[in-house]
Amino acid sequence: MAQFQILFPYSDTEWRPVTVELSWAPSGDQQYLWPSFEEAEAALQQLVTRVPGTGLRIALAGTDIGDVDWQIREKLRFADGTYSLTPWHDEPWYQARHGEHFCHISKEQAGKVAFTENAAKGQIDRQLVMSPGRYLNRFFSEHLDNNAIEGWCARLSVLLEEDALKITQDADEIEDVYVGGPNSCMAHKADYFDSPCHPVRVYAGPDTALAYIGSREDATARSIVWPSRRIYTSIYGDVSRLRLLLEGAGYTSGSLNGARIRRIPHDDYFVVPYIDEGDDLDDEGQHLVIGQGGISSNKTTGLADIPWYCPRCDSDGEAYETVHGVDGDEEEWCYSCFHDHATFCDYNQRYYCDDESFVIVHNDGGSNTVLEDDAEDFGAVYLEDR
Ligand SMILES: [Zn+2]
Repeated sequence: MAQFQILFPYSDTEWRPVTVELSWAPSGDQQYLWPSFEEAEAALQQLVTRVPGTGLRIALAGTDIGDVDWQIREKLRFADGTYSLTPWHDEPWYQARHGEHFCHISKEQAGKVAFTENAAKGQIDRQLVMSPGRYLNRFFSEHLDNNAIEGWCARLSVLLEEDALKITQDADEIEDVYVGGPNSCMAHKADYFDSPCHPVRVYAGPDTALAYIGSREDATARSIVWPSRRIYTSIYGDVSRLRLLLEGAGYTSGSLNGARIRRIPHDDYFVVPYIDEGDDLDDEGQHLVIGQGGISSNKTTGLADIPWYCPRCDSDGEAYETVHGVDGDEEEWCYSCFHDHATFCDYNQRYYCDDESFVIVHNDGGSNTVLEDDAEDFGAVYLEDR
Protein backbone atom coordinates (compact mmCIF):
# COMPACT_ATOMS: atom_id res chain seq x y z
CA MET A 1 0.00 0.00 0.00
CA ALA A 2 1.58 3.22 -1.15
CA GLN A 3 1.95 6.13 1.22
CA PHE A 4 2.61 9.77 0.49
CA GLN A 5 4.61 12.47 2.17
CA ILE A 6 5.06 16.23 1.84
CA LEU A 7 8.59 17.44 1.13
CA PHE A 8 10.14 20.77 1.98
CA PRO A 9 13.26 22.17 0.21
CA TYR A 10 15.91 21.68 2.92
CA SER A 11 18.77 22.90 0.67
CA ASP A 12 19.46 23.47 -3.02
CA THR A 13 19.68 19.73 -3.56
CA GLU A 14 17.84 18.05 -0.70
CA TRP A 15 14.14 17.69 0.11
CA ARG A 16 13.02 16.54 3.56
CA PRO A 17 9.61 15.32 4.74
CA VAL A 18 7.56 17.60 6.98
CA THR A 19 4.56 17.01 9.23
CA VAL A 20 1.08 18.45 8.97
CA GLU A 21 2.35 21.19 11.30
CA LEU A 22 5.36 21.95 9.05
CA SER A 23 7.92 20.44 11.46
CA TRP A 24 10.65 18.09 10.25
CA ALA A 25 9.18 14.60 10.20
CA PRO A 26 8.76 12.60 12.30
CA SER A 27 7.87 14.92 15.16
CA GLY A 28 5.79 13.72 18.10
CA ASP A 29 2.49 12.32 16.94
CA GLN A 30 2.04 14.85 14.13
CA GLN A 31 0.90 13.25 10.89
CA TYR A 32 3.55 13.05 8.14
CA LEU A 33 2.29 10.16 6.01
CA TRP A 34 -0.92 10.11 4.01
CA PRO A 35 -2.65 7.02 2.58
CA SER A 36 -3.58 8.66 -0.74
CA PHE A 37 -2.23 11.30 -3.08
CA GLU A 38 -5.45 13.30 -2.69
CA GLU A 39 -5.18 13.43 1.10
CA ALA A 40 -1.54 14.52 0.90
CA GLU A 41 -2.54 17.13 -1.67
CA ALA A 42 -5.26 18.47 0.65
CA ALA A 43 -2.79 18.68 3.55
CA LEU A 44 -0.29 20.45 1.29
CA GLN A 45 -2.93 23.01 0.24
CA GLN A 46 -3.63 23.69 3.93
CA LEU A 47 0.07 24.30 4.55
CA VAL A 48 0.39 26.56 1.51
CA THR A 49 -2.54 28.66 2.73
CA ARG A 50 -0.95 29.03 6.14
CA VAL A 51 2.65 29.52 4.97
CA PRO A 52 2.67 30.81 1.37
CA GLY A 53 5.73 30.55 -0.83
CA THR A 54 7.34 27.55 0.86
CA GLY A 55 7.79 25.43 -2.27
CA LEU A 56 6.34 22.17 -0.93
CA ARG A 57 5.78 19.05 -3.00
CA ILE A 58 4.31 15.58 -2.65
CA ALA A 59 6.32 12.40 -3.00
CA LEU A 60 5.95 8.69 -2.43
CA ALA A 61 7.13 7.44 0.95
CA GLY A 62 9.24 4.29 0.88
CA THR A 63 7.56 2.92 -2.22
CA ASP A 64 8.92 2.48 -5.71
CA ILE A 65 7.22 4.56 -8.39
CA GLY A 66 6.65 1.30 -10.31
CA ASP A 67 4.41 0.01 -7.51
CA VAL A 68 1.77 2.72 -7.75
CA ASP A 69 -1.11 3.12 -10.19
CA TRP A 70 -0.13 4.88 -13.38
CA GLN A 71 -2.54 7.74 -12.61
CA ILE A 72 -0.78 8.38 -9.28
CA ARG A 73 2.57 8.32 -11.08
CA GLU A 74 1.28 10.99 -13.49
CA LYS A 75 -0.16 13.11 -10.64
CA LEU A 76 3.21 13.01 -8.88
CA ARG A 77 4.87 14.26 -12.05
CA PHE A 78 2.63 17.33 -12.01
CA ALA A 79 3.17 17.74 -8.26
CA ASP A 80 6.99 17.66 -8.43
CA GLY A 81 7.33 19.86 -11.51
CA THR A 82 8.37 17.11 -13.93
CA TYR A 83 5.33 18.03 -16.00
CA SER A 84 4.54 21.65 -16.88
CA LEU A 85 0.90 22.71 -17.14
CA THR A 86 -0.65 23.64 -20.45
CA PRO A 87 -2.35 27.05 -20.57
CA TRP A 88 -5.79 25.34 -20.77
CA HIS A 89 -5.12 23.15 -17.74
CA ASP A 90 -7.79 24.76 -15.52
CA GLU A 91 -10.52 24.98 -18.19
CA PRO A 92 -13.57 22.85 -17.27
CA TRP A 93 -13.68 21.13 -20.70
CA TYR A 94 -10.08 19.98 -20.23
CA GLN A 95 -10.38 19.16 -16.50
CA ALA A 96 -13.18 16.73 -17.38
CA ARG A 97 -10.55 14.62 -19.18
CA HIS A 98 -7.39 15.46 -17.23
CA GLY A 99 -7.65 12.23 -15.18
CA GLU A 100 -7.20 10.16 -18.36
CA HIS A 101 -4.92 12.42 -20.50
CA PHE A 102 -2.58 14.10 -18.00
CA CYS A 103 -1.76 16.45 -20.86
CA HIS A 104 1.41 18.51 -20.31
CA ILE A 105 4.01 20.43 -22.27
CA SER A 106 6.28 18.00 -24.09
CA LYS A 107 9.85 17.86 -22.88
CA GLU A 108 11.01 15.92 -25.93
CA GLN A 109 9.66 18.11 -28.71
CA ALA A 110 9.66 21.89 -28.52
CA GLY A 111 6.26 23.51 -28.95
CA LYS A 112 4.29 20.26 -28.59
CA VAL A 113 2.17 18.67 -25.89
CA ALA A 114 2.23 15.09 -24.59
CA PHE A 115 -0.62 13.03 -23.15
CA THR A 116 -1.68 9.48 -22.28
CA GLU A 117 -3.79 7.94 -25.04
CA ASN A 118 -5.40 5.20 -22.96
CA ALA A 119 -4.98 3.17 -19.78
CA ALA A 120 -2.88 0.47 -21.46
CA LYS A 121 -0.36 3.10 -22.63
CA GLY A 122 -0.52 4.68 -19.20
CA GLN A 123 0.44 1.39 -17.55
CA ILE A 124 3.54 1.05 -19.72
CA ASP A 125 4.37 4.74 -19.18
CA ARG A 126 4.02 5.73 -22.83
CA GLN A 127 2.88 9.25 -23.77
CA LEU A 128 1.93 10.50 -27.19
CA VAL A 129 3.50 13.74 -28.43
CA MET A 130 1.33 15.95 -30.64
CA SER A 131 1.08 19.54 -31.84
CA PRO A 132 -1.26 21.52 -29.57
CA GLY A 133 -3.63 22.45 -32.42
CA ARG A 134 -4.05 18.84 -33.45
CA TYR A 135 -4.58 17.68 -29.87
CA LEU A 136 -7.26 20.29 -29.12
CA ASN A 137 -8.96 19.68 -32.45
CA ARG A 138 -9.04 15.93 -31.96
CA PHE A 139 -10.46 15.85 -28.43
CA PHE A 140 -12.17 19.17 -27.78
CA SER A 141 -13.66 20.33 -31.09
CA GLU A 142 -17.15 20.24 -29.63
CA HIS A 143 -16.05 22.87 -27.06
CA LEU A 144 -13.67 24.93 -29.18
CA ASP A 145 -13.97 26.46 -32.64
CA ASN A 146 -10.94 27.09 -34.83
CA ASN A 147 -10.44 30.60 -33.46
CA ALA A 148 -10.42 29.36 -29.90
CA ILE A 149 -7.93 26.62 -30.79
CA GLU A 150 -5.65 29.17 -32.46
CA GLY A 151 -5.93 31.33 -29.36
CA TRP A 152 -4.85 28.48 -27.06
CA CYS A 153 -1.92 27.63 -29.37
CA ALA A 154 -0.79 31.26 -29.25
CA ARG A 155 -0.99 31.25 -25.44
CA LEU A 156 1.07 28.07 -25.34
CA SER A 157 3.82 29.62 -27.45
CA VAL A 158 3.86 32.68 -25.18
CA LEU A 159 4.17 30.34 -22.19
CA LEU A 160 7.01 28.44 -23.82
CA GLU A 161 8.78 31.69 -24.62
CA GLU A 162 8.42 32.79 -21.00
CA ASP A 163 9.75 29.46 -19.77
CA ALA A 164 12.84 29.76 -21.94
CA LEU A 165 16.19 30.89 -20.54
CA LYS A 166 16.81 34.57 -21.18
CA ILE A 167 20.15 36.32 -20.73
CA THR A 168 20.32 40.10 -20.94
CA GLN A 169 22.88 42.90 -20.62
CA ASP A 170 20.21 45.60 -20.99
CA ALA A 171 20.22 47.77 -17.82
CA ASP A 172 16.47 48.58 -18.00
CA GLU A 173 15.58 44.92 -18.42
CA ILE A 174 17.88 43.89 -15.54
CA GLU A 175 16.24 46.48 -13.27
CA ASP A 176 12.70 45.35 -14.27
CA VAL A 177 13.51 41.71 -13.54
CA TYR A 178 14.93 42.56 -10.10
CA VAL A 179 12.01 44.81 -9.15
CA GLY A 180 9.22 42.53 -10.40
CA GLY A 181 10.79 39.12 -9.77
CA PRO A 182 11.92 37.01 -6.80
CA ASN A 183 12.57 38.73 -3.48
CA SER A 184 16.05 39.61 -2.15
CA CYS A 185 17.93 42.55 -0.65
CA MET A 186 18.36 44.01 -4.16
CA ALA A 187 14.72 43.44 -5.22
CA HIS A 188 13.45 46.90 -4.34
CA LYS A 189 12.48 49.84 -6.52
CA ALA A 190 15.27 52.25 -7.46
CA ASP A 191 14.15 54.95 -4.98
CA TYR A 192 14.70 52.56 -2.07
CA PHE A 193 18.45 52.83 -2.57
CA ASP A 194 20.83 55.72 -1.80
CA SER A 195 22.34 55.42 -5.28
CA PRO A 196 21.30 57.76 -8.12
CA CYS A 197 20.06 54.73 -10.11
CA HIS A 198 19.13 51.15 -9.31
CA PRO A 199 22.40 49.45 -8.22
CA VAL A 200 21.85 46.30 -10.30
CA ARG A 201 22.19 48.39 -13.49
CA VAL A 202 25.97 48.01 -13.12
CA TYR A 203 25.59 44.35 -14.14
CA ALA A 204 24.83 45.49 -17.70
CA GLY A 205 28.20 44.35 -18.99
CA PRO A 206 30.82 44.22 -20.17
CA ASP A 207 31.37 40.83 -18.47
CA THR A 208 28.27 40.28 -16.33
CA ALA A 209 24.67 39.68 -17.43
CA LEU A 210 21.36 38.62 -15.91
CA ALA A 211 19.84 35.20 -16.62
CA TYR A 212 16.15 34.79 -15.89
CA ILE A 213 12.96 32.93 -16.72
CA GLY A 214 9.42 34.22 -16.85
CA SER A 215 8.33 37.56 -18.17
CA ARG A 216 10.43 40.69 -17.76
CA GLU A 217 7.87 42.23 -15.38
CA ASP A 218 7.22 39.06 -13.37
CA ALA A 219 10.30 36.84 -13.56
CA THR A 220 10.09 33.51 -11.73
CA ALA A 221 13.85 33.07 -11.26
CA ARG A 222 17.05 35.02 -11.81
CA SER A 223 20.83 34.73 -11.44
CA ILE A 224 23.75 37.00 -12.27
CA VAL A 225 25.95 35.23 -14.81
CA TRP A 226 29.30 35.65 -16.57
CA PRO A 227 28.44 34.46 -20.09
CA SER A 228 31.94 34.25 -21.60
CA ARG A 229 33.05 31.94 -18.77
CA ARG A 230 29.69 30.15 -18.51
CA ILE A 231 29.44 30.91 -14.77
CA TYR A 232 26.23 31.37 -12.82
CA THR A 233 25.89 32.65 -9.25
CA SER A 234 23.15 32.44 -6.57
CA ILE A 235 19.74 31.65 -8.03
CA TYR A 236 16.65 33.36 -6.62
CA GLY A 237 13.08 32.11 -7.18
CA ASP A 238 12.50 28.85 -9.05
CA VAL A 239 15.98 27.52 -8.28
CA SER A 240 15.67 24.03 -9.73
CA ARG A 241 14.22 25.13 -13.06
CA LEU A 242 16.71 27.94 -13.74
CA ARG A 243 19.62 25.75 -12.66
CA LEU A 244 18.49 23.05 -15.07
CA LEU A 245 18.32 25.55 -17.92
CA LEU A 246 21.68 27.12 -17.08
CA GLU A 247 23.42 23.77 -16.71
CA GLY A 248 21.77 22.68 -19.95
CA ALA A 249 23.39 25.73 -21.56
CA GLY A 250 26.82 24.69 -20.24
CA TYR A 251 26.94 26.95 -17.18
CA THR A 252 28.44 25.91 -13.84
CA SER A 253 28.21 27.55 -10.43
CA GLY A 254 31.15 29.88 -9.72
CA SER A 255 32.50 33.24 -8.63
CA LEU A 256 32.40 36.62 -10.36
CA ASN A 257 35.92 37.55 -9.22
CA GLY A 258 37.72 39.07 -12.21
CA ALA A 259 34.53 40.14 -14.00
CA ARG A 260 34.17 43.77 -15.11
CA ILE A 261 30.97 45.67 -14.34
CA ARG A 262 29.84 49.19 -15.19
CA ARG A 263 31.56 52.07 -13.36
CA ILE A 264 29.08 54.67 -12.08
CA PRO A 265 30.71 57.19 -9.69
CA HIS A 266 28.47 59.30 -7.42
CA ASP A 267 30.16 61.90 -5.16
CA ASP A 268 32.67 59.95 -3.03
CA TYR A 269 31.00 56.64 -3.87
CA PHE A 270 30.48 54.13 -6.61
CA VAL A 271 27.12 52.58 -7.43
CA VAL A 272 27.62 48.93 -6.37
CA PRO A 273 24.96 46.31 -5.54
CA TYR A 274 25.30 43.59 -2.93
CA ILE A 275 27.33 40.98 -4.81
CA ASP A 276 26.65 37.37 -3.76
CA GLU A 277 29.53 35.55 -5.36
CA GLY A 278 32.32 38.10 -5.53
CA ASP A 279 34.75 40.02 -3.32
CA ASP A 280 35.49 43.75 -3.08
CA LEU A 281 36.07 45.67 -6.29
CA ASP A 282 38.83 47.66 -7.91
CA ASP A 283 38.51 50.83 -9.98
CA GLU A 284 40.12 50.04 -13.29
CA GLY A 285 39.22 53.47 -14.71
CA GLN A 286 36.79 52.32 -17.38
CA HIS A 287 35.05 49.66 -15.30
CA LEU A 288 35.01 48.25 -11.82
CA VAL A 289 36.57 44.78 -11.50
CA ILE A 290 35.03 42.38 -8.98
CA GLY A 291 37.34 40.72 -6.46
CA GLN A 292 40.46 42.83 -6.87
CA GLY A 293 40.30 45.92 -4.70
CA GLY A 294 38.94 47.84 -1.74
CA ILE A 295 35.47 48.93 -2.92
CA SER A 296 32.95 47.07 -0.77
CA SER A 297 30.83 44.38 -2.44
CA ASN A 298 28.51 43.79 0.52
CA LYS A 299 26.64 47.07 0.86
CA THR A 300 22.87 46.89 0.48
CA THR A 301 22.41 50.66 0.12
CA GLY A 302 23.50 50.73 -3.53
CA LEU A 303 26.59 52.80 -2.76
CA ALA A 304 30.11 51.74 -1.78
CA ASP A 305 32.81 54.14 -0.53
CA ILE A 306 35.56 54.95 -2.94
CA PRO A 307 38.51 53.89 -0.76
CA TRP A 308 41.05 56.63 -0.05
CA TYR A 309 44.77 55.92 -0.28
CA CYS A 310 47.33 58.25 1.28
CA PRO A 311 49.63 59.49 -1.54
CA ARG A 312 52.62 59.47 0.80
CA CYS A 313 52.41 55.99 2.39
CA ASP A 314 49.91 54.25 0.04
CA SER A 315 47.85 52.83 2.90
CA ASP A 316 44.08 53.17 2.85
CA GLY A 317 42.29 55.24 5.44
CA GLU A 318 41.03 58.77 5.74
CA ALA A 319 42.51 62.03 4.52
CA TYR A 320 43.57 64.09 7.55
CA GLU A 321 45.14 67.37 6.38
CA THR A 322 46.42 69.17 3.31
CA VAL A 323 50.20 69.35 2.99
CA HIS A 324 51.84 71.78 0.56
CA GLY A 325 55.01 71.74 -1.49
CA VAL A 326 57.12 74.82 -2.38
CA ASP A 327 56.41 74.12 -6.04
CA GLY A 328 52.70 74.81 -5.40
CA ASP A 329 51.57 71.15 -5.21
CA GLU A 330 49.26 70.08 -2.47
CA GLU A 331 48.25 66.64 -1.20
CA GLU A 332 45.88 65.19 1.37
CA TRP A 333 47.83 63.06 3.84
CA CYS A 334 46.78 60.51 6.42
CA TYR A 335 47.04 61.29 10.13
CA SER A 336 50.31 59.46 10.75
CA CYS A 337 52.10 60.91 7.71
CA PHE A 338 50.88 64.36 8.67
CA HIS A 339 51.92 63.89 12.29
CA ASP A 340 55.37 62.54 11.49
CA HIS A 341 56.35 64.27 8.26
CA ALA A 342 54.73 67.72 8.00
CA THR A 343 55.99 71.06 9.34
CA PHE A 344 54.00 74.28 9.82
CA CYS A 345 55.43 77.38 8.14
CA ASP A 346 54.68 80.41 10.31
CA TYR A 347 55.05 82.76 7.36
CA ASN A 348 52.65 80.99 4.97
CA GLN A 349 50.46 79.70 7.80
CA ARG A 350 50.22 76.23 6.35
CA TYR A 351 51.85 72.79 6.45
CA TYR A 352 54.69 71.67 4.25
CA CYS A 353 56.45 68.38 3.70
CA ASP A 354 59.49 67.90 5.98
CA ASP A 355 61.62 67.39 2.86
CA GLU A 356 61.50 71.12 2.18
CA SER A 357 64.22 73.33 3.76
CA PHE A 358 63.16 75.21 6.84
CA VAL A 359 64.91 77.70 9.02
CA ILE A 360 64.24 78.80 12.56
CA VAL A 361 63.75 82.55 12.73
CA HIS A 362 64.35 84.20 16.08
CA ASN A 363 62.64 87.49 16.71
CA ASP A 364 61.48 89.62 19.61
CA GLY A 365 58.61 87.34 20.52
CA GLY A 366 60.49 84.07 20.30
CA SER A 367 61.21 81.73 17.40
CA ASN A 368 59.31 80.70 14.28
CA THR A 369 59.76 77.97 11.77
CA VAL A 370 59.64 79.33 8.23
CA LEU A 371 60.41 77.93 4.79
CA GLU A 372 63.95 78.95 3.91
CA ASP A 373 62.75 80.70 0.74
CA ASP A 374 60.42 82.90 2.74
CA ALA A 375 62.68 83.76 5.65
CA GLU A 376 63.62 87.20 4.34
CA ASP A 377 60.04 88.16 3.61
CA PHE A 378 59.18 87.06 7.11
CA GLY A 379 61.48 89.83 8.39
CA ALA A 380 64.16 87.72 9.96
CA VAL A 381 66.58 89.48 12.24
CA TYR A 382 68.84 86.50 12.76
CA LEU A 383 69.15 83.35 10.69
CA GLU A 384 70.35 80.35 12.65
CA ASP A 385 73.43 78.66 11.13
CA ARG A 386 74.20 81.64 8.84
ZN1 LIG B 1 50.11 58.26 4.91
